[in-house]
Amino acid sequence: MDDKQILMIPGPTPVPEQALLALAKQPIGHRSSEFGCIFEEVLQNLQWLHQTQNDVLMLTASGTGAMEAGIINFLSPGDRVLVGCNGKFGDRWADLATTYNLNVEKITADWGKPLDPEQFREKLEADTEKQIKAVIVTHSETSTGVINDLETINRHVKTHGEALIIVDAVTSLGTVNIPVDEWGIDVVVSASQKGYMIPPGLGFVSVSEKAWEAYKTAKMPRFYLDLDKYRQFQAKNTTPFTPPINLMMALQVSLQMMKKEGLANIFARHQRLMNATRAALKQLNLPLFAPDNVASPAITAVAPVQADTEQILKIMKNRYDIALAGGQDHLKGKIFRIGHLGFVTDRDILTAIGSLEATLIELGQDSLTPGAGVAAAAKVFAQSEARAPVQ
Ligand SMILES: *Cc1c(COP(=O)(O)O)cnc(C)c1O
Repeated sequence: MDDKQILMIPGPTPVPEQALLALAKQPIGHRSSEFGCIFEEVLQNLQWLHQTQNDVLMLTASGTGAMEAGIINFLSPGDRVLVGCNGKFGDRWADLATTYNLNVEKITADWGKPLDPEQFREKLEADTEKQIKAVIVTHSETSTGVINDLETINRHVKTHGEALIIVDAVTSLGTVNIPVDEWGIDVVVSASQKGYMIPPGLGFVSVSEKAWEAYKTAKMPRFYLDLDKYRQFQAKNTTPFTPPINLMMALQVSLQMMKKEGLANIFARHQRLMNATRAALKQLNLPLFAPDNVASPAITAVAPVQADTEQILKIMKNRYDIALAGGQDHLKGKIFRIGHLGFVTDRDILTAIGSLEATLIELGQDSLTPGAGVAAAAKVFAQSEARAPVQ
């Protein structure tokens, strides 16, 4: 039967019906007053989501395009930058920075391990001449399901004083607390197809005053991604270039839904989904790729020992209509990943775990106690204080 699929990859994520309906509307002109009204509300809610008074600029781009904007607007060729690399996305930002002739110094950790904030501290402390212009960090490393210690790394950047911190928050914004103003995070990048619960196509960049200061002297060429253009037009509730109008209408709806749920509840829900998923997988004797204390609330990576990863993905997809993700690069065939960010509820986890049990049984995994995973997830849900009481 068609149309039954659940997306549990780490983006795109499922889209609520109200947002889908907004996508089906006639487009309106982006210089019209109707558009201005929608955009004004959206911009306010974006600041709410980012917990900031900074500009949050919206681009027609995927997360990578938004990250490119977040890097090139504030730096000049030859600038020294530290890039945290412990997975596919960290590596991508090192490549991007190298492409733009930045002087890239990688701070690495094995895939599946977190970045060590001490290594950032040492490099930043040693830089008495203040040559490091930016520190680029992926907060939730989607390729491995590891969350990096942004708060501590950021503290070291603040102590340095000169460097900007540029954060890939693509799978952490809207899943885990990032108090942008309280921490003083300069550049925060995110994208519509993750925690925002709408399809791909919009990228977001929040920019601090300090970053705007750096913008004034930054010499990297920029045109479509010139963030000052977006700032000037957004001040008039419009965009410099034609935006994907219907995606904006969907964004208006999804941000309203998020506001209604509330930030604390959103974060608690993602925590609960992660805890239930991890508890279930442990009961199924499936080793978790990221340790508990650095696990991302957006995504769980699993390294099966007995079963073949590709087989698991195939059966989950073809028999149970649940799309999970495989591993990337050298982890292809070695891990699989369960996305639980955005429009995801407790039921989705129970369904996914139940289906995974059925899949493992079909694959003849003999060490499995049927129902053990679902029971473990149900227990986490039952003990969760953040759930609203049933009337
Ligand atoms: C999805 C994702 C991105 C953005 O990728 P695009 O395909 O360009 O949207 C960036 N960083 C992380 C950590 C992601 O999960």
